[in-house]
Amino acid sequence: MPSDAVSAAPDCIFCKIVQGAIPSRKVYEDDELFAFHDIAPWAPVHFLIIPKAHIPSMAQVGPQHAGMLGRLMALAPRLAQEQGCNPYPDGGFRIVANTGAEGGQEVHHLHVHVMGGPRPWLKG
Ligand code: 5GP
Ligand code: ZN
Repeated sequence: MPSDAVSAAPDCIFCKIVQGAIPSRKVYEDDELFAFHDIAPWAPVHFLIIPKAHIPSMAQVGPQHAGMLGRLMALAPRLAQEQGCNPYPDGGFRIVANTGAEGGQEVHHLHVHVMGGPRPWLKG
């Protein structure tokens, strides 16, 4: 059985996006990670990077995820530049990982928001 089939959660919209069962505007894909544009962007550039494996949130992260999270964070600046964020330091981007209800998390599949572009933004 493929590893991503074992790790998918049946009612998770981001697992369905990884599988292609729900369409998305893909930004990037490799064996481990998937990135796609947010359906309701707050900023001129707004995409999400997720692990393909279903991890509910940052609250479930442990040492076994350090490599994946390092690769995810290391991917962000490259994708931000490719998607049109302006160069640091006058440009830049914001990375957000909402975690749990009080952290503002709505979709319970670990994701980081990467947002950038000229202000004002809808939020923040
Ligand atoms: P959270 O509040 O959980 O950190 O953020 C979830 C994000 O996922 C929201 O910004 C929301 O717009 C986005 N989102 C929810 N459903 C979909 C979808 O079906 N497709 C895409 N591309 N983004 C989605
Ligand atoms: Zn999922």
